Amino acid sequence: MTAATPSHTRRRGFADPQARLLSPRARVARLTIAVVVAAVTLCTFVAPGNDMETLHCVTAGCLILAFSFGPLLRGAQPRPRWVAQMASGLCLLPALLPWPSTLALGPFDTLDFLYFTSYALLFTWLVLLSRRLGSERGPYTALDALAATVGVALGVWTWALAPVANGALLPSGLVWAAYPVADVLVFVLCVHLGLRRGGFNPALNWLMAALTVQFFLDGYYAYTEVMLLRGRLPDAEAGYLVSYLCLALAATHPSVVQLGTYAGGPDKHRSGRGPALILFTISPVLLAAAVQVTGILDMVVRVTLITLQLALLFVRLSWTMAALTQAETQSHHRATHDPLTGLVNRASLMEEIDRRIKFAAESSHGSAAIYLDCDNFKYVNDTWGHGAGDVLLQDIASRVKARLGPDVVFARFGGDEFVILTPTDSAAEAMKLADRVLECFQEPLRIGPHSAHRLSPSIGVAVVAPEESVTGDELLGRADAAMYEAKQLGRGRCVLFGEELATRTRYTAAVGARLHEAISNKSFTLQLQPIMGGTNYTRLIGWESLARWRDPELGEVSPKVFIPLAEQHGLIGELGDFMLRQACLELARLRAAMPGHAPQVSVNISPAQLLQPDFVQTVREALSAAGLAGGALKLEITETLLIDRGAGVVEALEEVRRQGTGVCIDDFGSGYATLETLLRLPIDSVKLDKSLIDRLCIDDAAPRQIRAVIDLLASLGIHNVVAEGVETPQQSQLLQQLGCPMVQGWLYGRPMSPHDLLASAQLSAQGGDPVASPAPNAAADG
Ligand code: C2E
Ligand code: MG
Ligand code: MG
Repeated sequence: MTAATPSHTRRRGFADPQARLLSPRARVARLTIAVVVAAVTLCTFVAPGNDMETLHCVTAGCLILAFSFGPLLRGAQPRPRWVAQMASGLCLLPALLPWPSTLALGPFDTLDFLYFTSYALLFTWLVLLSRRLGSERGPYTALDALAATVGVALGVWTWALAPVANGALLPSGLVWAAYPVADVLVFVLCVHLGLRRGGFNPALNWLMAALTVQFFLDGYYAYTEVMLLRGRLPDAEAGYLVSYLCLALAATHPSVVQLGTYAGGPDKHRSGRGPALILFTISPVLLAAAVQVTGILDMVVRVTLITLQLALLFVRLSWTMAALTQAETQSHHRATHDPLTGLVNRASLMEEIDRRIKFAAESSHGSAAIYLDCDNFKYVNDTWGHGAGDVLLQDIASRVKARLGPDVVFARFGGDEFVILTPTDSAAEAMKLADRVLECFQEPLRIGPHSAHRLSPSIGVAVVAPEESVTGDELLGRADAAMYEAKQLGRGRCVLFGEELATRTRYTAAVGARLHEAISNKSFTLQLQPIMGGTNYTRLIGWESLARWRDPELGEVSPKVFIPLAEQHGLIGELGDFMLRQACLELARLRAAMPGHAPQVSVNISPAQLLQPDFVQTVREALSAAGLAGGALKLEITETLLIDRGAGVVEALEEVRRQGTGVCIDDFGSGYATLETLLRLPIDSVKLDKSLIDRLCIDDAAPRQIRAVIDLLASLGIHNVVAEGVETPQQSQLLQQLGCPMVQGWLYGRPMSPHDLLASAQLSAQGGDPVASPAPNAAADG
């Protein structure tokens, strides 16, 4: 049973299987009641009489009570809606009693009032349930139900009443004819509810079954009344028991409480409406128009009903068309706009750029693209969460938008990237606009109701003249390259794409194209640059390993070009591993040529490389392949790495530190390292950036600053400080006075190939007296 439930459920399209389940005892009870009711019905037909009538009334009363209180006993919520359903049932109870005919009002007697009140309450209940599932379809439901009712009324009139009316139709006949019409109306609402909730459940099916039985019985009575056949045709009163039974089964089924909730399936509203509309509304009109008119009354009634029906259909169609147009507009907006900021999205921006460039020659308008990328946006997301990031992006969008003219396209291009497209080929004008955009960031941006954050953008500007044949992608590529340049130059600024940048971009593209091949062919070599320490910096501490690439077509390519490219292309892991292993092997060879001396090798490590899950393992393998201990190696990481990366980086560094490998912050003082990074990371040495050293002899404040940095580092327990890029004896002298323990630079040796180092007599000169003055980390090296 349990195993069969899912497929059964799927087949029938029910999404609320729990509510459909009946216990075996409940099944038996319901079956027994059904058999009893069938027996009473049959007996009333076969042997009508007073006793049977009483039995019939008692049975009907029980079923109506079950219908009235079933849902509430099943715990249907919210109760007010279900009170309407209960009241509709209770209205049927007094109808079982004999009422004096003197209580009649016109063609309506007391029973008619009770029954129609019951219909009205049932109608109200179903409408309330439907509305609960979504009020936007409420007017459609009412209109469709009305149209279906008019359609049925038209059908009943044309085929049942008009042929016999001929001006002599009794008003009571019309009242009788209203019953099947009311049945149809309620039935239509049931269908609507089923479609709206995305599934028909047993309770709804039983309810519809009750209405169907009632429709045929009411139709039968309407026919006998109109045809004046009352008394001549058999009484079908007993049949109503079957209808009450269906009502009771509906109201007591567990699924009844689910009637006002979604079944979980798609809203089949639209797909189910078409055939129902045709069946109940359009076909009666077509058929009624084809049947011959029997008299003036017939004509008036038919014309009125057909006109009403056509008016309803017209209203319905107009509403549908309006809704379709609105849906189309909305879906087009969704497809072309960014939901967060409401700006144009990437796809439609690309279309617009291409369109503008295509018609540029005719319109003699050039185009300028302004590419904006938020600096350190990840920090916002990581610190305050993505919700704050979203608020910030919205604030950026609205601020920038307020500064733009009407013929400017402003798009969200991706995460924290925006593009402005403006119709100008004047670089000055485009830069002026970019500066205005930059100004938007002067005030702190909102990241929540009570908090703000100051953020800078890097902005790249590219301009294309009307006669230039450039694609949208190319224009954006140029603006992107200029934006990247702005980042390189220190962020928070605007850069115009010019000839120099174009040449560099082309060169970078050419390097990028050759990079894959170079890495797979292992075309890289390394050079070693000495790091000196001791008195007068005469003792060799070790070497920094620097990657070199000589391409047959491009010539010597600087690591400042190919390292960032390898990072962008996702190749840095491979390249970095290769360099790490090579550096260890070369160091082992050099150490072998320098017995009793233990210089170190410093290897530059890229952020992406450090983030690789097997990074620590790679370091271990490189060391063991060269037969070196952990202390022989130092890893140089850049400050920029420290801003963006999280716990994974710290863990990896701690792991390598545990094996004795040193960790050094490279290019310290060039940008972003904070006291917090120095405290957080397990570093043991720092390299002062060349820009600091360059200022030593030209800026009076520089020596004080460097002393302050050295003192600060010492107070943090970092005594291994290397001054980078030392080129002059004056710099060297000042550094000694300032207490900088180590230096590296052309003054002490340019980067050289290991082969040259080995062969050269310089080796011993650089090493001084290695045996007398071993490297500081020699102990750690073991
Ligand atoms: P870096 O790690 O700061 O390396 C020092 C750079 O300064 C090297 O440039 C070196 O040749 C240069 N230099 C050293 N002394 C002097 C001097 O007295 N004057 C001047 N003007 N320059 C000096 P290089 O070799 O061009 O490397 C540039 C950058 O490329 C390195 O900066 C490093 O960040 C990166 N890099 C080099 N090799 C590798 C590598 O194997 N892996 C990774 N991830 N990055 C590397
Ligand atoms: Mg370095
Ligand atoms: Mg450096």
